[in-house]
Amino acid sequence: MPHPLPLIPYPSDVVMLDGLFRNSRRFSLSLERSCDQSFSDSAVQYAKELLDRDACLASSKEAANLSIRVEPSLHDKEEAYTLEVLPQNVSIGAYGHQGLFYALQTLRQLQLAYPQSIPCCRIDDSPSLRWRAFMLDVARSFCPVGEIRRIIDIMASFKLNVLHLHLSDDQGWRVALDAYPELGDEKSGQYTKQELKELVEYASVRQIMIIPEIDMPGHVTALLAAYPALSCTGGPFSIPKGEGIFPDILCVGKEETLDFVKMVLKEIASLFPSPYIHLGGDEIPLERWATCPDCQKRKQALALSDEKSLLRWFYREMTHYANSLGKQVLLYNDYVDDTYDQSIITQIWNPLLDGSQSEHQAILSDYFHSYLDMDHTLLSLHRVYKLGEMLQPGNQARVMGAELMLWTEYISTREKRDLHLFPRLLAGSEIFWTRKDMHEYHRFLGTCSQYGKLFLPPHTSITPRHAWDPPLIRQFISRWKRKRRVKRNSKMAGISFA
Ligand SMILES: [Zn+2]
Repeated sequence: MPHPLPLIPYPSDVVMLDGLFRNSRRFSLSLERSCDQSFSDSAVQYAKELLDRDACLASSKEAANLSIRVEPSLHDKEEAYTLEVLPQNVSIGAYGHQGLFYALQTLRQLQLAYPQSIPCCRIDDSPSLRWRAFMLDVARSFCPVGEIRRIIDIMASFKLNVLHLHLSDDQGWRVALDAYPELGDEKSGQYTKQELKELVEYASVRQIMIIPEIDMPGHVTALLAAYPALSCTGGPFSIPKGEGIFPDILCVGKEETLDFVKMVLKEIASLFPSPYIHLGGDEIPLERWATCPDCQKRKQALALSDEKSLLRWFYREMTHYANSLGKQVLLYNDYVDDTYDQSIITQIWNPLLDGSQSEHQAILSDYFHSYLDMDHTLLSLHRVYKLGEMLQPGNQARVMGAELMLWTEYISTREKRDLHLFPRLLAGSEIFWTRKDMHEYHRFLGTCSQYGKLFLPPHTSITPRHAWDPPLIRQFISRWKRKRRVKRNSKMAGISFA
C-alpha cells in the first residue's frame, strides 16, 4: 500500500505516480484557452497568495510548470478539482473558482510538507458536504476583525466554507446599526458596517460565506438593556457576565417589537449578501409570555392554544419577512418540528430535542462532538472526528452540512481561542470534506501531529491543554445537568450517542 499523502482534509481519490516534482523552482503559469479573464485573474492571484509571491505567467506553454484549465467534466461540481503532479509540471483542472482555489490549497499543503520534491500523484477531489462550517461566538467575547481574518485564512486552508458569526446574545450586541444606535457600544466591542462589509469581501475571496446570527426571541438581555420597552416586564435590565439562560425575552405581543426586529433584519440582510440568516432560537424560556397581558392578548387574537404556538407564529412571521429580503432562515432545533415552515434549516445542536427528528434540512453540530469550548479532556480530537460517523448515507438528503462551534463565555483571548480551536478544527475540516468511507482517524492523526502545525500560521498553538480549569469544569457540570434534564423530559428516549 502506498504511503498516504499528508493532506488535511484527505482527498477523495489519490493515485501515486512515479517520479518527483522539484519544488524549489518558481511557479510559472500557463492558462489554457478555456479559462476566461476572471478565471485567469483568480488563478494568478491564488497562485501568488498561496504558492509563490513571484508566480507569474509563463512566456510559452513549454516554459510553464503549472498549467491550469477549465475542466468541462466538472461542470456540475463547482468545488471539485483534479491535480496532477508530474516530474516536469503540475496541472490543475477545475470548473469553478472554488475548485481552482481548493486545488491550489492542496498544492500548497504538498509544498509545505515536501519542501524539496513533491512525490508525483494524481488527485481527484470534491467535498462530501456542501456546508462545512465554523461558528464563532463574538457576542460573549468580542473578537477583533484582524483575528477573524486570521481565522478565515485558517478555515480556507482547510477547505471550510461557512463562517457563522453569533453576533448577539445576553452578554453583548456586536453590530453597529443605523436604526438603533443604542445597541452595543464601541467600548465593549462592536463592528462597524464598513468593517463587516470588508470582512464579507475578505471571506468571499477565500471561498467562505459569512452567515450572520441574531439570536431571538431569547438570549436578548443586551438588547433589552438598551431597549427595555421591548420586553414583557419593561425592565430595567443589566448586561450579565458569564453563562446562563435568562428569563426575559422579546415581548411578541407588542407591535413595536415586531417592527424593531424587522428593521434589524433588514439592516443585517443588507450587510451580508449570503442567502441565509440565522435567527437563533435556542433556550427560550416562555414563562414571561404566560403572564404578559400583551402576549396573552396576541395569543387570544390569533386563537393560539399555548406559548409554544405563539413562538411558532413569531417565527413564521419572521421567516416570511426574511424570505421577502431574499434570505432563508436557520434555527437551532429546540422547538422546530414539522409544523414549522418547511423552508427553515434546522441546526441540530441538541439531538435529544424534538427538532432533531423533523423533516427540515439540517446542519449537524451536536454538543457531544462539536462544542470546541469544551476542554480537550472532555472533547478529545478523536471524539470530534467521530462526528463523521453521524453523517450516515441515509441522512444525506436531509443533512446539508455540519458545523463546529466555539462559544466564548470563558474564551476571550487569541491564545485561549487557539488552544480550543486546534487541532480539533482540523478534524472538522476532514470529516466535513472527506468521503465517509475514507475517514481514518490514525492516518489523520499522523498527518495532524507531523504536519498540522506546518499548515497553520506561525505562532499558532496546537497543543491540547489538559490543565485544571475551574470555569470549564463549572461549564461541564452545567452542561451535564442540562443534558440530564433534557434526557428526562425527552420523548426521544432510546436515542443513544457514542
Ligand atoms: Zn409580552
